[in-house]
Amino acid sequence: MIPISFEFYPPKTDEQRAQLDRAAERLKAHAPDYVSCTFGAGGSTLSYTPETVRRLHQQHGFEAAPHLSCVGGTREEIRELLKLYRAIGCRRLIALRGDLPSGMGHAGDLRYAAELVAFVRAETGGHFRIEVAAYPETHPQAEDAQTDLRHFKAKVDAGADAAITQYFYNADAYFRFVEDARRLGVEVPVVPGVMPIGNFAQLRRFSEACGAEIPRWIGKRMAGYGDDAAAVREFAADLVAALCRRLIDGGAPALHFYTLNLARPTQAVLARLR
Ligand code: FAD
Repeated sequence: MIPISFEFYPPKTDEQRAQLDRAAERLKAHAPDYVSCTFGAGGSTLSYTPETVRRLHQQHGFEAAPHLSCVGGTREEIRELLKLYRAIGCRRLIALRGDLPSGMGHAGDLRYAAELVAFVRAETGGHFRIEVAAYPETHPQAEDAQTDLRHFKAKVDAGADAAITQYFYNADAYFRFVEDARRLGVEVPVVPGVMPIGNFAQLRRFSEACGAEIPRWIGKRMAGYGDDAAAVREFAADLVAALCRRLIDGGAPALHFYTLNLARPTQAVLARLR
């Protein structure tokens, strides 16, 4: 089996914290290389990611990597976060532009993730292993796939060590993306982001917002299962496990699982891969 990592989001309530703890405990058995914690742009959400990274590292014993986004933030705020993450003991982070919640006006001091990567390198040298985002099905705001790919290369040229992709259900999009990136001279590992399917209605909503395509035949199959939750779970786990197998066979260097703080959908996929 190739290396795996798990992504969590920062809980805000005691109930959510308990849910994260349960998921982290269960997923620990799969010995991930590291876990990561997402970051919401702006204001009150700022402190939840450091708190969660500390919890994952100190309480659960994971190597924990914060996501760090630059949108809506100042250089000074980012500098403070970098200091905090060094103090916690982090050696890797995921550098992103992020998205402003609608209605928030201030874009921030750094406009694109490439600028953030350059800033982190200038501030902290080689301390952090830096991962950036990649989009096999093209970022939804990009002009076109080729321009988006050049912007991806700019992040690597600025100092990123590796990339994690947006999730996808079409392995060919990933293989093609990696091939095109190699042709442009991008050598870093491109790790597929894998979204196990827990709640299909929620996945549909997410996918529209982030530009990930759910093939029509999958939607049709899901619709056909109606209220049969067991059949949906079985189909979803088989489907995602088959995708992972194809990615592994095709040379993917690792797999990054979007857990949404739930253990079961990810465990169901991993059980099929062993
Ligand atoms: P960028 O790489 O800066 O690209 C954003 C857009 O700008 C693209 O369309 C790109 O083509 C374009 N672009 C880049 N450079 C230029 C330029 N010089 N001139 C013109 N256009 C340019 N979001 C969060 O808020 N928090 C998270 O924790 C989080 N984690 C994520 C983890 C992963 C693995 C992935 C794949 C995404 C994650 N996201 C997260 C979502 C991400 O923040 C959004 O997709 C966001 O819209 C783009 O971020 P980016 O880092 O890819 O941006």
